Amino acid sequence: MTRRAIVAANWKMNGNSALVNTMVTGLSDIKLAENVDVVICPSFPYLSELKSELSKANVATNLFVGSQNVSEHDSGAFTGEVSTNMLKELSVNYVIVGHSERRSLYKETSTQVAHKVNAALNAGLTPILCIGESESERATEQTETVLASQLQPVIDEVGIEKFVDVVIAYEPVWAIGTGKTASSEMAQETHQFIRQFLAQNNELVAAKVPLLYGGSVNATNCEELFAQADIDGGLIGGASLKVEQFSSICLAA
Ligand code: PEP
Repeated sequence: MTRRAIVAANWKMNGNSALVNTMVTGLSDIKLAENVDVVICPSFPYLSELKSELSKANVATNLFVGSQNVSEHDSGAFTGEVSTNMLKELSVNYVIVGHSERRSLYKETSTQVAHKVNAALNAGLTPILCIGESESERATEQTETVLASQLQPVIDEVGIEKFVDVVIAYEPVWAIGTGKTASSEMAQETHQFIRQFLAQNNELVAAKVPLLYGGSVNATNCEELFAQADIDGGLIGGASLKVEQFSSICLAA
């Protein structure tokens, strides 16, 4: 089964208009492979600008805009939140859901994450569902239990068939922003577990879901990671803020 590769940039609360411009210019200088989609997820205030810069520039059509979060609610008294319909109006295509920083700093539960995935799918946005274990959970051999506990509420809420429109990012929490990358063997083993877990529910769907690795991916380690059978690309934090590094990562996918 050949799946499309995806490289997604999570700028977190970094970047500005200047980065939007230099990134769009930098990416318009490279020739992306046809089977690779690149998604850039800046903070909310830059989504519109990014979309319009991409449309003006001579960039490949496989470059997309994503947000870093979305509300599970459609509208109403939720100060500071952004709805799926608002993102759709800005022609956003992807949304990161359940990033470990949202789970740990903002106490998002797996149930809430499931509601967000559902809201995104209902609006025609592609969720990039983030899952991953902490350092102590890996040390105590709880990785698979944790990943299953993060996936199951989403499967229960949206149904496994809908996962054909979901991207999963496996991001070991201990590897995010730390410079400690999972070895390619460890990453592959965990991705394989995730695909098998999905396959227990539906084999055909499991074979189609793009699984991204995230956690200190850079221009040096990306090639080996992306070469693994169940790794279909990456979710890139720090290295996505540097045009040259990010371009090399996109070219390696
Ligand atoms: C992330 O925030 O999703 C991430 C993977 O960050 P970094 O690449 O900096 O580890």
